[in-house]
Amino acid sequence: MDSFRSILDREPSVLLLPYCAKPTDCDLRNSKGCRMCDRDDCTVGRAWRAGTRRGMRVATIVSFEDLLAELTCMKKDGERAFIGCCCLPFFTKHAEDLEQAKVPGLLLDIHDVTCYDLDQVRDAYAGAFERQTRLNVDLLDSVLGGVK
Ligand code: SF4
Repeated sequence: MDSFRSILDREPSVLLLPYCAKPTDCDLRNSKGCRMCDRDDCTVGRAWRAGTRRGMRVATIVSFEDLLAELTCMKKDGERAFIGCCCLPFFTKHAEDLEQAKVPGLLLDIHDVTCYDLDQVRDAYAGAFERQTRLNVDLLDSVLGGVK
């Protein structure tokens, strides 16, 4: 497994953000994009801006299948590394899938009650989790600040 430093030294080129951090009434909640509209109750726009400022491709993960498709795509495109925001239970459950993708990545924990806490994992995988989580944007900012 790559170290934290060695992944940052690869200058990660992709930032993956979970749809569950978008407001439930955002029309882009289940879409890949974000228009960075600066809503106070949404951490995705700030994270998106931080990623694009660094020239990263930023994308929302809208379902578990979408995550697998992104990992396949990154491998095919030869992406250097990625940074993803997700909750710890998700990472623990899918550490093997992520490892198999063979794209070096850093996963940053998110704040808040997750679908795992609420026992709504099945809905969440299908993109139907009904709550909003918050990204730890301060942590993301400091990690991005460590990229060369
Ligand atoms: S910043 Fe948040 S509310 Fe605005 S478009 Fe992006 S995800 Fe939706």
